[in-house]
Parts: sequence; structure tokens; C-alpha cells
Amino acid sequence: MFILILGAPGSGKGTQGRILAERLGLPKITTGDLIRAAMKEGTPLGIEATKYYDQGVLVPDSVVLGMIKDELDRPDAKNGAILDGFPRTAAQAELVDKTLAQRGQRLNHILLLDVTEDELVKRMHARAQVEGRPDDTPEAIATRLQVYQRNTAPLIAHYAQRGIVHRVPGTGTIEQIAEEIKRIIGR
Ligand code: ADP
Repeated sequence: MFILILGAPGSGKGTQGRILAERLGLPKITTGDLIRAAMKEGTPLGIEATKYYDQGVLVPDSVVLGMIKDELDRPDAKNGAILDGFPRTAAQAELVDKTLAQRGQRLNHILLLDVTEDELVKRMHARAQVEGRPDDTPEAIATRLQVYQRNTAPLIAHYAQRGIVHRVPGTGTIEQIAEEIKRIIGR
């Protein structure tokens, strides 16, 4: 079972993805974490990514597509995975669709975490105090929200045509949201 968690920055994708991955015993693939690890290690990919990441814009597909392909091909993702933070562009969505189709698989569910823009901004500023990510400056936060609306939100329509998009209210306690997800996917 392949499940994509989609939502704006600050919508709680990471938290709900972790809970879901644990419950279903599936690996969680998180492009943001992979990019952060590459930047920390100073790999060529990490060095290339930094200038985009810090500003809150997407790391180019030329850098990310190979990474996505490698992750989907991991042996532990053979029968399913939770996708967190990707696909974020049309090209990434195409790659995911194609890779899974070649294996006779497909995305089964898209969970769209729905949180108002006001709440997103509040959460991201609060998180910035705690985590201090370089892309948590007020400018980068505003950019990330815009980038989501422009590049990633259109993917919803792409997947909605297949009838696999479920809107999940992203406000409430972590447990309430996790329960709602459990109800939606039926396990
Ligand atoms: P958030 O959802 O809060 O923005 P992420 O960790 O998912 O947090 O992403 C942080 C940054 O990492 C993005 O602003 C972008 O620069 C980069 N990034 C993560 N995933 C992708 C992706 N699939 N494609 C391009 N860039 C990505």
C-alpha cells in the first residue's frame, strides 16, 4: 500500500506520516529529511540543494528525481511506503506514477491535510523558535507557502480524477487526526 501525505508546510505531514508508517509497518520516505541529511554530510547533492532550501524554494527536479527513484527502489519499499514531502511537482508525480506502474502498483490513497493559512503561519513561526531550521525565517516561510500553492496544490486535481484524494481536517489533537486517517483508509 502506497500512501501519499499531502499538505502545506506546517500542516503536520511529518507527524501523521510517522504515526501511520509505524502503525502499518511501512517505511516512510521523506524528501525533506533526505535533503537535510545530504546538506549536513556536504555531499554534492547537498551542496547544490542548500541555496534553494535556505530560501524556501523547491530543490530542482534535476536533483530530486534521482533521489526519489532510488528511494522507491529500496527493497523495504517493495510492497508499500508512506510518501512524505513528495511528489511536489508534476514531474515528480509523473516519476512516482511511472515507477509504481512498472511494478504493477499505484498510489492507493492521498491524504490531504487541510489547515487554514493563518494556522499554518502560526505553527511555522512557533516551530521556528524550537527547531531553528534555516528555512524557518519569516521570508522563507512565506515563500514555502507560496511555492506549495503554486507547484504542489495543483497535484490535488491530478489525483482527484482518480478518486483517491481524501481531505483530512488538519486541526484537532494529533490523536484525533490519526484516528480520522485510520477511519479513512480502513486500517
Ligand atoms: P515543509 O513541508 O515544512 O516545507 P520539508 O522538509 O518537506 O518541509 O521541505 C523543506 C524544503 O526541502 C523545501 O522547501 C524544499 O526546498 C526541499 N524539498 C523537500 N522535498 C522536496 C521535493 N520533493 N522537491 C523539491 N524540493 C524539496
